[in-house]
Amino acid sequence: MATTKRGRRRPVTQAIKDRSAASRTAAREALHAYAVLCLNDPAELERFRDIAASIGWKLDPASDEPGYSLQNALLLAAQRRPLTHCGGFDYWLSQGRAVAEGEKSLGTFRHIGRKKTDEEKAKEKELADDGWQSSKRGPRYYVKKGTFDVSQTVPRERCPHCGTIPASEDDRTTQCPPDCAAFAPRPGSKPPRVIVVELLQAQLLDADEAEGEANQ
Ligand SMILES: [Zn+2]
Repeated sequence: MATTKRGRRRPVTQAIKDRSAASRTAAREALHAYAVLCLNDPAELERFRDIAASIGWKLDPASDEPGYSLQNALLLAAQRRPLTHCGGFDYWLSQGRAVAEGEKSLGTFRHIGRKKTDEEKAKEKELADDGWQSSKRGPRYYVKKGTFDVSQTVPRERCPHCGTIPASEDDRTTQCPPDCAAFAPRPGSKPPRVIVVELLQAQLLDADEAEGEANQ
């Protein structure tokens, strides 16, 4: 068996592997349950399309464009609804907001390792066409926590939309009123219904099959 030349990897202990597998399983279960919900209730499916439009989505997970892959938009919505605007801890700080006290972050799928170049993909295809089989490998993605919806954040300074002012620098509880524009859905195009239905149906596959389908 060939060894990789990437090196400089941190040793992966069994405990890390177990935790990682557990969070992947939890994510898959949440996706499965949410997919069943959306496929059985057209209104719920429409709410997901609205969420995707507001938080931003892209068809090609590998593209550098902003937005979440549809799979990740689905995973985020499976964990919390409604959602209007998602970002990481530092993103919210850069927006003049901070994660509110006691809020738990949401997880997204991330690829393990760098992206393959077109050249490498072509070479793999060439080998596959010649009858070579790539060795069976474990899941190539993991669940990364650290995403928060705007509703999980509070203003760090005077809110530019509604004027709410935190009581002190360390105040992580003073919230804007529900009608503050910070919470309003953002304009964006909805993902086509047919693509969403296809994605939802893919979540109903067995976990083993689905492992290979997950993207970014
Ligand atoms: Zn506000």
